[in-house]
Amino acid sequence: MNYSTHVATSLAAGTYLTTVTNVPFSVACLGGIVIGSLLPDIDEPNSFVGRRTFGLSKLIKKTFGHRGLTHSLLFWLLFSLLYYKFQNDFTLGLSLGYVFHIIGDFFSRQGVPLFFPFTKKKFRAPLTYKTGTVQERALLVVALVAFVYIVYRYKLFVTVF
Ligand SMILES: [Zn+2]
Repeated sequence: MNYSTHVATSLAAGTYLTTVTNVPFSVACLGGIVIGSLLPDIDEPNSFVGRRTFGLSKLIKKTFGHRGLTHSLLFWLLFSLLYYKFQNDFTLGLSLGYVFHIIGDFFSRQGVPLFFPFTKKKFRAPLTYKTGTVQERALLVVALVAFVYIVYRYKLFVTVF
């Protein structure tokens, strides 16, 4: 999944969550979601984040492989300790964005190693899309429309500032 699709689908999912849970629709939380949704691909040197890590990305890929450790539920839990330690809108958003990324990749044909390092087996949803195709672009558009619709429908823009 392209970084823009990750950001869009995560924003849509997060915004939906704000309408059914206590998750706040705030700039800090949304910012956290955007950044969190980009982080798992730190294991791919050519990704949006990977290109900005001064080599750390190469090291992670070499050690754990792309879509390895950083795409596992265990790592997500460890990452979420950040929220456990510093409970605020931003760290909550980070944790949410991170797991939305994993879920997004779960729906891709390649799947994700949810239970890494216990097993390297990659899991995927019954219905998948192929990365970098028109399917993914369609997903991007749907996510953006959903995001705007939910914001409009629940008048969330009033609560942001
Ligand atoms: Zn990924």
